[in-house]
Amino acid sequence: MGIVEKPLTQEEVDSWRVPVPGGAALLAPLDRLAQWARKNSLWSLTFGLSCCAIEMMATAAPRYDLDRFGMFFRATPRQADVMIVAGWVSVKMAPFIKQLYDQMPEPKYVIAMGGCASAGGPYRDSITIVKGVDRFIPVDVYVYGCPPRPENLINGILKLQEKIKRERALTRRGQPLPAREPIVIEG
Ligand code: SF4
Repeated sequence: MGIVEKPLTQEEVDSWRVPVPGGAALLAPLDRLAQWARKNSLWSLTFGLSCCAIEMMATAAPRYDLDRFGMFFRATPRQADVMIVAGWVSVKMAPFIKQLYDQMPEPKYVIAMGGCASAGGPYRDSITIVKGVDRFIPVDVYVYGCPPRPENLINGILKLQEKIKRERALTRRGQPLPAREPIVIEG
């Protein structure tokens, strides 16, 4: 996917309005509409690995209510847009997480939640724990903390939405894919 220079503005949305008998219709570029829909309907793969997953579950519960951002948890990678890796990843577990990531359709995004998923955390010196999931899958947002609070995870999700807003849904033919620029949320 390519990066588009400017995000969607109200003026741009207004420029899509065309009068039709009995009212008005919106006539918009398909990629801009897809971009807007994708940003507001991020579905996350349902899985948690360790202590950080408790905070992730709390984020989805009524007090923090992740649904208000259009984010739902799906129990299959084939219907998921986002993978939140919440917790430490053992060396044995890594190939299965990679397999789940590979089964997700493009475009797909990864949030590394907590110090362990981001860089190994307190287990960084262990030979059985992977020193960050970016060793085997690309990460879009790092949310630091041990564990990060739900507010931090929500901040990471909002930053991911901003990033998606700048992306172009349809790549121009022959255009090389840009390098991913990860976002870091401090704990
Ligand atoms: S970052 Fe802390 S809370 Fe999260 S999985 Fe690691 S040890 Fe547990």
